[in-house]
This record gives sequence, C-alpha cells and structure tokens, in this order.
Amino acid sequence: MARSSRTVLPVSELCRGILAGKRAVLAKAITLAESTLQKDQQIIEKVLKKLLPHTGQSIRIAVTGVPGVGKSTFIETFGELLALEGKRVGVLTVDPTSQKTKGSILGDKTRMERLSRNPHVFIRPSPSGLALGGVSYHTREAILLCEAAGFDVILIETVGVGQSETIVRGIVDFFLLLMITGAGDELQGIKKGIMEMADGIAITKADGTNINPAKQAQADAMQALHFQTPSLSGWKPKVLATSSLENKGIAEVWRMIQEFQQHTTNNGYLNSNRQWQQAQWLDEIVEGYYREMLNQPFIQKEKKQLLKKILNNSLLPADAAKQLWGYAIPGKKKKN
Ligand code: GDP
Repeated sequence: MARSSRTVLPVSELCRGILAGKRAVLAKAITLAESTLQKDQQIIEKVLKKLLPHTGQSIRIAVTGVPGVGKSTFIETFGELLALEGKRVGVLTVDPTSQKTKGSILGDKTRMERLSRNPHVFIRPSPSGLALGGVSYHTREAILLCEAAGFDVILIETVGVGQSETIVRGIVDFFLLLMITGAGDELQGIKKGIMEMADGIAITKADGTNINPAKQAQADAMQALHFQTPSLSGWKPKVLATSSLENKGIAEVWRMIQEFQQHTTNNGYLNSNRQWQQAQWLDEIVEGYYREMLNQPFIQKEKKQLLKKILNNSLLPADAAKQLWGYAIPGKKKKN
C-alpha cells in the first residue's frame, strides 16, 4: 500500500539502514529528498549531514544521448559487467521530458529489467513533476545517499534533449555521450556543445551490418574532437565503438573511465572539479532563496506598482529593482 512507502523512519534508522546498504531504506530516503514538503526536506538534511563522511568515494558517470541511441541497453550490459567485477552500481535517471508529457521516455518499466534484478545494482527512475533545476538538486542528494549506501559506481542517465546535459555535467565526474551512426553529418542531432562536454563517446550498435558505418562514425567523431579546445582536466576524450547486444567495446568503456579517474586523481582535477561543483550547488541554493524572497506576494504587489511607474517613464528599472530588493531584505546587518 502507498502508506508503507511513505512511512517516515526516524533519522537514526534511515542512516543505519542506508549505511547497511538496505535498498528499501535508500529508496525511502531518496523519496524524501525528492519531496517538496518542508518536513521531508528537514529530515533529509539531517540524514545527509550525518552521512556526509561516508560519501564521495564513487565515480559519478553521466550516460547521455538522444532517445533510441541505446542508453538503457548500454547501462544494462555495462552495469552487469561492473557487477561481475564486484562493483555496486547505482543507476539514477534524469528525465526532463516527464514533466511536460506526464509520461516519461525513461519511465518504461520494462527498461533494464535484467539489471534491476541484479543484487549489486540499485535503479532509481526519474522523479516526475520536478523542474529541471529540481532534478539536478535532488539528483545530487540521491548521489550522496547512494554513496553512503556503498554504491561505488553511480550512473546518471539523461535524455539528450539539450539543457539537461549542461546541468548533469555539473554533477558528475565523467560525461559519456552515446551516439548512433548515420549520415556522415550526424554527429547529427548532437549539438556541438554536447560533444564538447564529453569525456568519452561511444558509437552504439556497432554490430551486424552496422559495423562499418560505426567505424566511420568513430573516425568522424575522433576528427571532430581533434579540433576541440583541450579540456581543463588535461584529459583527451576518447571515442569507442560498442555493441551492447553483443557485449563488444563495453569493457573498453570501463577501462577508459578508469584511466580518466586515474589521470584526474593524479593531476588533482577530480577533486578540484568536485569542489567547483559544491560551490555551484551552494550558489544554486542561494539563488533559490533569492527567488523565493522576491516571489513573496507583497513584493509582487509592489513590483506591479513600480512597473506602472516604469511604463510611464517616471522610474528607472534599476531604481525599482533596488527598492524591491530593499523590501525583500529588510536591512539585516551581518553578524560577526
Ligand atoms: P534509449 O532510448 O537510448 O534508452 O535506447 P534503448 O536502449 O531503449 O535502445 C533503443 C533500441 O536500440 C532498442 O530496440 C534496442 O534493442 C536497440 N539497441 C540498443 N543497443 C543495441 C546494440 O548494441 N545493437 C543493436 N543492434 N541494437 C541495439
């Protein structure tokens, strides 16, 4: 019954369950993290505070690409390979389309069916009804919760529809872009900006009659990357051809990610990138507070009045903004 999944456990019990790797408890905690209710948020903040020392040890990997490119099939084969190597794998899906359509491209229950039965794997489908920013915010918390539960590879699956990549890029260590073969220009459908974000590219479905086109696409992508400005990580992105159905090239993808991890651990980038991401997270939260403050009804009312003055040229927008800001933050002095 729905009631049982909403039964809220005390903070200590949530923490104990998560640290013991109990998936049911982990799932409950993620539900709390996704909740917009203040009391749920308060609980999850306490939980995260306690669990923080147990987080950070995983490699966080984004798997992205247009619908149909083969993300879920890839994750299934890749996840099984990792599980065979003794890794515990958390899969979180981020699907910004679910909000608009009320359905979800990624929500299909039959996806990753085999993997979802694997005892080393935890799969968490996308939360519905959240704005894109909300997805990133709650996905960050879900990553930390999974790490505390002992998952050492976290895969974040996102549909390649644009804005979501930039957000997801800001919460992972490694950004894996899946691409399909097709007309040479097909680095198609993939905006150049997205290729620039990639630490690795896998040309999918390199099997059967598609092997040669896949090799060609691999060469094209390598060529395109060659002209790219080198990334701050000092890592040169690689392009691989894979077949999830025939389990080809999948182990190579894992090797590439391990190489990346080694490289960026050695040169300090992995750590500095995570620190930068923490700073971004802080900024996002602070900006959220500002928005909330400015959305208060009395401020909105004032804003309407001020706008009238702006429209009849008796007030400058900059002056109106200062006034509104003054109402929102009533002259609090900094405490030392
Ligand atoms: P997603 O929408 O990106 O998650 O794509 P799916 O994983 O659902 O795959 C879309 C279609 O491509 C499905 O019909 C898969 O069976 C097929 N597919 C996925 N990976 C491969 C592959 O390695 N080889 C071939 N031939 N087909 C694949």
